[in-house]
Amino acid sequence: MIRLSIVVPCHNEEQTVELFYTATQAIATDELAKRGVELRYVFIDDGSRDRTLAKLRALAAAHTEVSYLSFSRNFGKEAALLAGLQAAVQSGDLIAVMDVDLQDPPNLLPHMCDLALTGEYDRIAVRRTSRKGEPPIRSWFARRFYGLMSRLTDLDLRDGARDFSIMTKRFVEAVLSCGEYNRFTKGLFGWVGYPTTWVEYTNVGRAAGETNWSFWSLVHYAFDGIVAYTVKPLEMLMGIGAMASSFALLALLFVVIRAGLYGDPVSGWPSLMAIILLATGVITFGLGIIGFYLSKIYLEVKGRPVYLIKETSKQDWQKNNKH
Ligand code: UDP
Ligand code: MG
Repeated sequence: MIRLSIVVPCHNEEQTVELFYTATQAIATDELAKRGVELRYVFIDDGSRDRTLAKLRALAAAHTEVSYLSFSRNFGKEAALLAGLQAAVQSGDLIAVMDVDLQDPPNLLPHMCDLALTGEYDRIAVRRTSRKGEPPIRSWFARRFYGLMSRLTDLDLRDGARDFSIMTKRFVEAVLSCGEYNRFTKGLFGWVGYPTTWVEYTNVGRAAGETNWSFWSLVHYAFDGIVAYTVKPLEMLMGIGAMASSFALLALLFVVIRAGLYGDPVSGWPSLMAIILLATGVITFGLGIIGFYLSKIYLEVKGRPVYLIKETSKQDWQKNNKH
């Protein structure tokens, strides 16, 4: 039997945990068993304030293939994925990542397993080809983000790429060897490389419950992603700064020559104001970008653990959370 460990991050998901388990298990006992694949589950309770943890305790008590770990507070999906991968890599031959809300359809698993079992790929990645059911403005920004991201970095990030994937042990070990504090898992998956193939599907809505992401948390996620993977904004800033300075120099030359030829009637203050405002704008913007990088370095240098564990179904998972 080949063991497939599924990492499932959960934040306030009391309504979906059981739905997820039943739906996935239905595929496991039929389609996956035929292929000689058995499932293990690693649920991560990411500081839920509802009854998610109680549901996980009950699931783990009833089914031996289910294990869970619970954070001391909400550390975010990236931290949950890290903890889950660290736990899953200890027991799985193959490791998968899935959302608990059934937006990553379990019925893709058999086909993905087939691809993984050919041994040709280290990662079977999934992207959705439509964003139906999502607010249009969110889709628009998401598309721009992926476009910008692939232009700024040379990562293989595709529009609609999910965290949903099946990976080999060596792939996950490579991802875990990236010891950064600011984790952007989609980028890490692309960064480590190895043969990857993509499976596509059309979007499905949440099975129950509500999304954990507000528009602004997604904007923040996008900024984090860019800052974690590229210093291009800093380079661009240098370019803008250089352009603004040359423009200012030319303007100065013009003013000096004009003053020499025609004297200096004190009339130029509107244009002066405009230039000052433009320059301070560019400078403030630049400082903002630098500050953002600096804050990331600050957090990185502190070397704090990415997450803290409150409770697990297995004792030996208490360690290993420090980078
Ligand atoms: N999630 C998490 N921690 C968080 C936010 C989300 O573990 O702080 C989990 C959540 O339970 C779900 C997955 O990440 O399994 C995706 O979240 P969600 O469905 O809210 O995002 P969306 O699909 O709307 O992008
Ligand atoms: Mg979702």
